Amino acid sequence: MADPKLANAIKAALGAVQVPGGGSLADYQGLSEIIVTPSAVAFAIAVEPGMEGAFGPVRAAATEAAQSAAPGHKVLVSITADKAPPTGSGPSVGAQQPPPQSPQQPVKGIKKIVAVASGKGGVGKSTCSVNLALALKPQGLKVGILDADLYGPSIPKLLGLEGKPAMREDGIFTPFEAFGLKAMSIGPMVEADQAVVWRGPMASSALRQLLRETDWGELDVLVIDLPPGTGDIQISLCQQVTLAGAVIVSTPQDLSLIDARKAINMFQRLSIPLLGLIENMSYFVAPDTGNRYDIFGHGGAQKAATDLGMPFLGEIPLDMAIREQSDAGSPVVATDPDAPKSAAFIAAAKALAAQLA
Ligand code: ADP
Repeated sequence: MADPKLANAIKAALGAVQVPGGGSLADYQGLSEIIVTPSAVAFAIAVEPGMEGAFGPVRAAATEAAQSAAPGHKVLVSITADKAPPTGSGPSVGAQQPPPQSPQQPVKGIKKIVAVASGKGGVGKSTCSVNLALALKPQGLKVGILDADLYGPSIPKLLGLEGKPAMREDGIFTPFEAFGLKAMSIGPMVEADQAVVWRGPMASSALRQLLRETDWGELDVLVIDLPPGTGDIQISLCQQVTLAGAVIVSTPQDLSLIDARKAINMFQRLSIPLLGLIENMSYFVAPDTGNRYDIFGHGGAQKAATDLGMPFLGEIPLDMAIREQSDAGSPVVATDPDAPKSAAFIAAAKALAAQLA
């Protein structure tokens, strides 16, 4: 808590928010510590399992109250039902204690959830997530994407999303729509440099909220762009939902494959099916001559996939247009679907769809 004065002012403002069963949110035992950073405010409300819906309006009112007490801050209020019901005058819950394992529950309206993971950052995991999601659509699938990379959300930039997602009166988010995808990201709600406060239970509550308290409608596939590595969010996601499986993105460099193997091991330990490995930045095609250059020693990922007994979904070229169009919020598969660079994503998505079927 960086600013106790502001936290106290927010708590005072929460005194005006009523909770089901009577009393104010400020006095409610399930209210977590109020975390205040220079640009963000975050707290969780622990409720009895099954009471999440009843607390939707409480969250909306709490968000509004916190927002007026802390103007200029981004406010994120999470509802968490993975705790024992709050009782008596015990310690406050939410931010302080790790969430216990809760049974996996399906997400309303979503048939299959695919996590896209990588061992380390910068390998193009988010770029692949977005383009794969876009390339699944022509397979006749209704697709959404959730940016769970709390520590470096890049889906807003990749899809050109602006502003915050709309929240209905009952506290449910309406997802963004971009290029025919339903999309949600933590990005618009928290500053990248504040991500440190989201570790542990807060990160897991934020993920739960984005996943379960978004009106996804009917989706065949939800693609989740995970943070790199093997941290809290990965474990929390695997505990919260039954995943159809994970796709691992790696570059050809050995170093990256060593990292990728850690991610692969994690999913194996958690008994999550491995749907396939993608080799990104696999080779470079000179725009003038069309010659192909295997500048990073291409083929490492395919060999690793064979060794690990997991499907190889394909190779994506290192292509300046992929970078430029990604940075400009116009992903290649949506804006240039017939180009060779898009063909690689489309082939990978077909292979993925076959795994899912
Ligand atoms: P990650 O999610 O693994 O951190 P990003 O998807 O954010 O990685 O990609 C990192 C950078 O690499 C971005 O600037 C992106 O545009 C670029 N990039 C990703 N894939 C490719 C590719 N195949 N060709 C060229 N640039 C790429």
